[in-house]
Amino acid sequence: MLTAIKNARLFDGSGREPYGPVHVIIEDDRILTVGPAQEVAVPENAQVIDAEGKWLMPGMIDAHIHITGSGDPNVLKAKKELVPHAAIRAGLNAKATLEAGFTAIRDAGAGFLVDVALKQAVNEGLIPGPRMRVACHGLSITGGHGDTRNGWPPEVEFKGRCVVDSPDEARKAAREQLRDGADHIKLHATGGVMSEGDVPTARGLTLEEMRAAIEEAHNVGKKTMAHAQGATGIKNAVLAGISSIEHGFYLTDEIIELMLKKDVFLVPTLAAVHHIVEHGLEGGIPEYGVRKAKEAQAAHLASFKKAYEAGVKIAMGTDSATPFNYHGKNAIELELMVKAGMKPIDALVACTKMGAELLDWGDCLGQVKPGFWADLILVDGDPLADIKVLQDLSRIKMVMKAGKVVVTR
Ligand SMILES: [Zn+2]
Repeated sequence: MLTAIKNARLFDGSGREPYGPVHVIIEDDRILTVGPAQEVAVPENAQVIDAEGKWLMPGMIDAHIHITGSGDPNVLKAKKELVPHAAIRAGLNAKATLEAGFTAIRDAGAGFLVDVALKQAVNEGLIPGPRMRVACHGLSITGGHGDTRNGWPPEVEFKGRCVVDSPDEARKAAREQLRDGADHIKLHATGGVMSEGDVPTARGLTLEEMRAAIEEAHNVGKKTMAHAQGATGIKNAVLAGISSIEHGFYLTDEIIELMLKKDVFLVPTLAAVHHIVEHGLEGGIPEYGVRKAKEAQAAHLASFKKAYEAGVKIAMGTDSATPFNYHGKNAIELELMVKAGMKPIDALVACTKMGAELLDWGDCLGQVKPGFWADLILVDGDPLADIKVLQDLSRIKMVMKAGKVVVTR
């Protein structure tokens, strides 16, 4: 089947300045031709979508979300949730994410294989949702950020964790996640904000533990991501061979150098800290979370700016599901990155081409190019003039995934 999107102003995801009018011809799920309107013939049998000068760009990519989570600040409620309930919500989250113009996501850890099942359901066409890369359970040390017992009395038994305390255990756990369907391995290299019993600057998994897990991922050609906030843990993760640093609160010059040398991505997730600081105690967020977020925010923003200016690869990620960080509201991260010093065009590249590269789809996603998947959005407005237009769903006039129009407004 042929589809033609006529007369669009095109941002192609590569970082090239937008231009137009452009015609894009799509055959089935792939882009066939892209070019200036006067040069591209619209096939007679094509279904035609007239963009009328609107902005066409690749579907956006969120490289760090938790698809099963809710954004509810009540941490205990989330921990006690039944798995089927989380699964139902995950389906709704996937739909909301797609409808907001995000056609691909990288999940940063979910319990009980809900992420694997959701990805399968989306791929089968059972429910609408973005393309997914999933992690299954993230690996954590006992008492670390990914240990769901962290901060709770020992008699309270929360399941859905993957705790390892030696390189051998890390290796085995990585193998288990890969067996269960993980597309990448998530490692907790430091403590965190929303875990009561530790701090962002605390080391999590050791260098040796991470190295063992990363070796297993690489053995089957897969990438890894590290929740990494304090400098010690970030450096450990980079030295161990991690593909991306998530959050990156306290980056040093030495770490930035290492990240450049080893081609490591930064996924800043500015929205997570932003929402916690904005809503604070009045929003019902636990005191320890508000305190730690406030302590880290200035350093986080400075680290982001420094890494960006040094040329570290940056992919957009929100950490959706942290308090008040709702699925479908992902595009706020673009505004926060621009506010923190990123050029709007680079923010758009971070949520298209760079996201695709990090998700290992750099050769088929994130750009409007012949041969690439036809994942596209049509926007009424100019995101380079006002990056916030991407947060306004009434301005996202069309979402196309794999050549099929999944949303029109
Ligand atoms: Zn996360």
